[in-house]
Amino acid sequence: MRIDIITIFPEMFDGPFSESIIKRAQEKNLAEIHLHQLRDYTTDKHRKVDDYAFSGGAGMVMMIEPVARCIDALKAERDYDEIIYMSPDGELLDQKMANMLSLQGNIIILCGHYKGIDERIREHLITKEISIGNYVLSGGELAAAVLVDSMVRLIPGVLGDETSALSDSFQDGLLSPPVYTRPREFRGWKVPEILLSGDEKLIAEWKYEQSLKRTKERRPGMLDEES
Ligand code: SAH
Repeated sequence: MRIDIITIFPEMFDGPFSESIIKRAQEKNLAEIHLHQLRDYTTDKHRKVDDYAFSGGAGMVMMIEPVARCIDALKAERDYDEIIYMSPDGELLDQKMANMLSLQGNIIILCGHYKGIDERIREHLITKEISIGNYVLSGGELAAAVLVDSMVRLIPGVLGDETSALSDSFQDGLLSPPVYTRPREFRGWKVPEILLSGDEKLIAEWKYEQSLKRTKERRPGMLDEES
């Protein structure tokens, strides 16, 4: 999978993309992530990418020209399956969407800033708009990093033990059961006996019951959804 990210703050991705699973996915050539500085695509001598909104009002708006030039340059090199704009009013990111996007070959992710981007970019250049939650961030970079993490870990071969993604919350329509590790007892707080029993069938049943209970308590809506 190839991911091209258009941003005015490429350095913001240094941390999240150079550690752990995303780092490993890139090293194994399962994910290729390219960052593009939007300012490199302006014709303005001050490398300006924002301007005042027509009709006034507070805040600056990201201009269409540099975004269009950057997207055109990328599209001239290869075809893209999706051109995504991170936006609080986009479709809410969930595990199903992460699964579907992880199957794509090439995608572009555009990070907005300021008051947002010129609406014509959304109308004519963007194919999908994604929000990571009903709150407003200062820019699309953190949202894009969340999206990339959620997709990349699902690419087959990225996680060492593939079943570990399959048993994650949401993956099978249920939340994950609780997990424990050593010591067996801490301050009198014990690990459930059944997990120490070695009886695989009973343990599997216990895990399923716990998943169901947790889902009923915390995300009852998930049980009504078709999977
Ligand atoms: N004025 C806009 C918000 C702009 S926030 C509005 O009210 O809808 C600036 C940028 O941050 C946006 O262009 C978008 O790229 C990003 N952003 C903010 N919140 C986000 C969220 N919840 N999910 C995804 N991207 C978000």
